[in-house]
Amino acid sequence: MTIPSHHRMVIDGEDVEALAGDRFSRTSPAHDTVVTSYPRADADDVDRAARAARRAFDEGPWPKLAAVDRSRVLLRVAALIRRDAAALARLEVLESGKPIDQALGEVATAAELWDYAAALARHAHGDAHNTLGEDVLAMVLREPVGVVAMITPWNFPLLIVSQKLPFALAVGCTAIVKPSELTPGTTVALAGLLREAGLPDGVVNVVTGAGGIGSAMTCHDAVDMVSFTGSTEVGRAVASAAGQRLKKAELELGGKNPQIVCADADLDAALDAVVFGVYFNAGECCNSGSRVLVDRRIAADFQAAVIRRSKEVPVGDPLDPATRIGAITSQEQLDTIERYVAEGTAAGASLALGGSRLPTPTGRFYHPTVFTDVRREMSIAREEIFGPVLSMLTFSSLDEAVSIANDTVYGLSAGIWTSDVNAALTASRTLRAGTIWVNRWMDGYPELPFGGFGASGLGRELGRHAIGEFTETKTVQLQVGPRTTRWLTDPVAG
Ligand code: NAD
Repeated sequence: MTIPSHHRMVIDGEDVEALAGDRFSRTSPAHDTVVTSYPRADADDVDRAARAARRAFDEGPWPKLAAVDRSRVLLRVAALIRRDAAALARLEVLESGKPIDQALGEVATAAELWDYAAALARHAHGDAHNTLGEDVLAMVLREPVGVVAMITPWNFPLLIVSQKLPFALAVGCTAIVKPSELTPGTTVALAGLLREAGLPDGVVNVVTGAGGIGSAMTCHDAVDMVSFTGSTEVGRAVASAAGQRLKKAELELGGKNPQIVCADADLDAALDAVVFGVYFNAGECCNSGSRVLVDRRIAADFQAAVIRRSKEVPVGDPLDPATRIGAITSQEQLDTIERYVAEGTAAGASLALGGSRLPTPTGRFYHPTVFTDVRREMSIAREEIFGPVLSMLTFSSLDEAVSIANDTVYGLSAGIWTSDVNAALTASRTLRAGTIWVNRWMDGYPELPFGGFGASGLGRELGRHAIGEFTETKTVQLQVGPRTTRWLTDPVAG
């Protein structure tokens, strides 16, 4: 790829510029050079894309194909993602600032999702009821919901679109996709791979631009459903616009995810997971383990170990395979991190490590940062920071730990480190979050549903649940034999 590379949007199978002819560019957050440019879509481009998706849905062939044929296309996409893994990962690094080894991992996981959705396509059948009486047989059909608007954030661009798109395609939906304006590259590249895999024109349309076009997508009459991943604040606006128009909405939003470390845990494993949990993707991760709750009896030693280990994490050029923390993706995000660090210090938490930018010649990088003496009412204990900033709290009983863990509007994920099976089971039952990890952290599998409680979202992605999200349920009742009852003349029952 020559830099900067110029890309176009994909609407109705064609590579197109915005109707108004405007473009925008993306500068690498690590290298301060312009790396890519894209058409700047407006509502007219959204209209064109939404109509194309509508036509592709209403006129077919995609929704009418046998599932096995849709499945074959999805399998080809998975293979093409693997073929282009190196280029996709590099594009992701240049636009997002994430380390190359993490970008390669993200691309590999995305391919797995396309594989899994291909298998799921063939299981999106409905149900039959043969037990309702001699004169009736009923079928429950799953039908594609229609045109899905997908709006995605900048932190895991290819992964997150792959948590939505292959599942919607598997059941026969068509789509209009808007990646974040900070990281459109891999989503636009994916549209090219879809064409190469044989997806019919208009089934997936990709528009590029800022949040306003996300809003135009949500409100467009041709769109039946919105699937959104991003901040809770924008998620609320999306849900409310969708609600006004009675469109289905599925939302994956923010998190303030606690890891509870008990005194009887394998502390070395917990230490590694704490460091991984908060610094993975520079903490720009909805599942970031940004709150750690430690048993008071071991808190001093464990916190000291976390600080020591945090100092060893390599921060720097994301193209260097040794790097573990890359650049902060946007200036806005860096400002947010700096604001929260100032708030934590002002509220009386102890800044035990970091708390400042790295003095690098290019880009924006932030030191691994650890706060101790954090209290549950502080903003750094309750709100999503989305940066490499860890808030450490203490507890003296499991009840107290769970109470602190649940004391937030979010409920995306939570975890416990313990060798006591009863503590693990109690925490699994009482922690209010969509995913609970016991003696592990942040693994995901295509088979397992993912989503949040409360302000972390609505609905679930992945697993068999995805079929439910992207389909409507239709009940069909069939009379078997002649209809012998007569409403007007038969005695009223009872
Ligand atoms: P964001 O909400 O600012 O933007 C997300 C997307 O929405 C972007 O494409 C943006 O252009 C678009 N958008 C902005 N305003 C819009 C509007 N009014 N209507 C429709 N679309 C609009 O989020 P971000 O800063 O890109 O991403 C970070 C956030 O995403 C964090 O809060 C993080 O927790 C969340 N996130 C959640 C998950 C999850 O699965 N739960 C995964 C990744 C990220």
